[in-house]
Amino acid sequence: PGAQLPFDPEKKTLVVLGSGWGATSLLTTLDTTDYNVVVISPKNFFLFTPLLPSVAVGTLNPRSIIQPTRYITRHKARAVSVIEAEASDVDPINKTVSFIDNSEIKGATSSTTIKYDYLVYAVGAEVQTFNIPGVKEHAVFMKELADAERMQREFMDCLETAAFPGQSPEEIDRLLHMVVVGGGPTGVELSGELHDFLEDDLKSWYPELAGRIKISLVEAMPSVLPMFSKQLIQYTESTFKESKIDILTKTMVKEVKEKAVVLQMPDKSIVEVPCGMVVWAAGNKNRQITQDLISKLPAEQTNRRGIDVDDHLRMKGAEGIFAIGDCTATSYAPTAQVASQQGAYLARVLQQLAKKDALAANLQTLEAEKVEEVGEEAQQRKNKLEREIKLAQSQIAKVNPRPFQYSHQGSLAYIGSDRAIADLPFMNGNVATAGVATYLFWRSAYLSTLFSLRNRTLVATDWLKVKLFGRDVSRE
Ligand code: FAD
Ligand code: NAD
Repeated sequence: PGAQLPFDPEKKTLVVLGSGWGATSLLTTLDTTDYNVVVISPKNFFLFTPLLPSVAVGTLNPRSIIQPTRYITRHKARAVSVIEAEASDVDPINKTVSFIDNSEIKGATSSTTIKYDYLVYAVGAEVQTFNIPGVKEHAVFMKELADAERMQREFMDCLETAAFPGQSPEEIDRLLHMVVVGGGPTGVELSGELHDFLEDDLKSWYPELAGRIKISLVEAMPSVLPMFSKQLIQYTESTFKESKIDILTKTMVKEVKEKAVVLQMPDKSIVEVPCGMVVWAAGNKNRQITQDLISKLPAEQTNRRGIDVDDHLRMKGAEGIFAIGDCTATSYAPTAQVASQQGAYLARVLQQLAKKDALAANLQTLEAEKVEEVGEEAQQRKNKLEREIKLAQSQIAKVNPRPFQYSHQGSLAYIGSDRAIADLPFMNGNVATAGVATYLFWRSAYLSTLFSLRNRTLVATDWLKVKLFGRDVSRE
C-alpha cells in the first residue's frame, strides 16, 4: 500500500532490488503491463561503472555517467514504482521485503514491508577489505560515484598540500606518491587514468610538481589482469613501464596508515612506504543482506561466494526469487556484461511466466466451473470444459523458458596513454589487440553501450571539453 503504488490485485507483484547493471537491463527490456512493478534501490540512478575511473581524475563529469532510474521507467507501458530505499531484509518463506529510507531527510514513515510474488534480487556486491587494518579509515574505494568524487578531491588536496610553501622534499615526495591496490581491471584502468592526468594537465598546471609524482600499483598475485591473455598483460606491463607506473606484483598490502602503506614484499619482508593517497581496488564481497538471505536457506544455499542459482537464475530453495549479477555465485565473472545479459534474459522469462500464470488462472476458473448436475445439456457443458482444460494444460506445458546462456562479447580495458587492450572472441577463438586503435574502439564501444542519447551526448561533450581546455583542477 501507499499512494504512489500502481497496484492491481489481478496482477502479480514483481519487486526488483537494485538499480545497477542487472536491474537496469531488466527494466529496459521488461513488459511492465504484466505486473505491479516495484523497484527499490538506495540510489535512484544507474551508474555506468566502466567510466568511473574517468570521473576520478576529472575527465568526465559525475553527472555524465549516471541516469535516473525514472528515465527508464517513465517510458514504460504501465507505471512502475521507483522507491529510493535500502532493502534491509528478505523473507523467502513469507515472500516479503522490508526496506528503509536511509537518506538524510526522513519522513514520518521511513521503513516498511511489502509482499512480492516474484523478486529480482540484483543488489550487487560491496568492497572487500579483508579486514585489513586502516583500509576503511584511510583508503579511497573505486566502486560508487561518491568514491570517484572523493578520490578527485583527495588527489587534488595532495597536490595543493605539496605546493604549500616550505614543504620539505620528503613530504612533497610522500604527498605525491599515489598507491593503487589491486591489479584487476579497476586498479589498472585507474592507474592509467591517473597517469593521463599527470601527463596531460599537471605538467602545465603544476610544472614544479609534475615530475615528482609517483604511481605504484600493488598486486598480491604474480601478474596483473589475470583475465586477459598473456600478450596483453605484457603489453600493459611495458606501457606502464614507459608511463613510469611501478607495478609491484607478489606484494600484499598488510595495513593502510594515514600517511603510509605497509607492504609485504615478495621476499616476505615488511616495508612501510610513505604515500599521499591509497586507492583500494582489491575486489568485492557479498553485502550483509545477501549473507543474511543465504543463511536463511542453509540446506540449499551452501556457496559462500554468493547466491546459488539454477540455470534459469532461480535462487535455489526460494520460491519466486531470481538473482542476477555480482550477488550470485556462478561460473561467470562478476561483470557488467554478465549482469546485463542476465537482466535482459530474466525480463523475457518474466513475460513467459506472466503468460503461464494467466493460463493457470484460467485453468483454475475452468475447473471451478465443473458441473455436477446430470442431464444431456450438463454433460455437453462438462465435455466442452474438459476440452478447454486439456487445451489450457497443454498450453501451460508449452511455456518453458530456456536456460540462461551467456554470450561473451570480449574483454576491454583502458590502460592510459591513449591505449587500450582487448580480447575479442573471433570464430571460436580469440583475437588480442592493443594500442591506439583499440582505444578508439574502447571509446566508441562505451559510448554506444551508454543507455541513453542524453548520456552519450554528455560523455562525448566532456571528452571534447578535455581535449580543448584540459581537465578542471579546481577542488570542490
Ligand atoms: P551493481 O551494478 O553494483 O548494482 C547493484 C545495485 O543495487 C545498485 O543500484 C545499488 O545501489 C543497489 N543496492 C545496493 N544495496 C541494496 C539494497 N540493500 N537494497 C536495494 N538495492 C541495493 N564490468 C564490465 O563488464 N566491464 C567493465 O568495463 C567494467 N568496469 C568496471 C569499472 C569499475 C570502476 C567497477 C567498480 C566495476 C566495473 N565492472 C565492469 C563491473 C560491473 O560494474 C559489475 O559487474 C556490475 O555493476 C554488476 O551489476 P549488478 O547489477 O550485479 O550490480
Ligand atoms: P578484481 O577482484 O578483479 O581484482 C582485485 C585484485 O586485487 C586481485 O588481483 C587481487 O589479487 C588483488 N588484491 C586483493 N587484496 C590485495 C592486497 N591486500 N594487496 C594487494 N593486492 C590485493 O577486482 P576489480 O578489478 O575491481 O574487478 C571486479 C570485477 O569487475 C571483475 O570481474 C572485473 O572483470 C570487472 N571489471 C571489468 C573491467 C573491464 O572489463 N574493463 C573494469 C573493471 C572491473
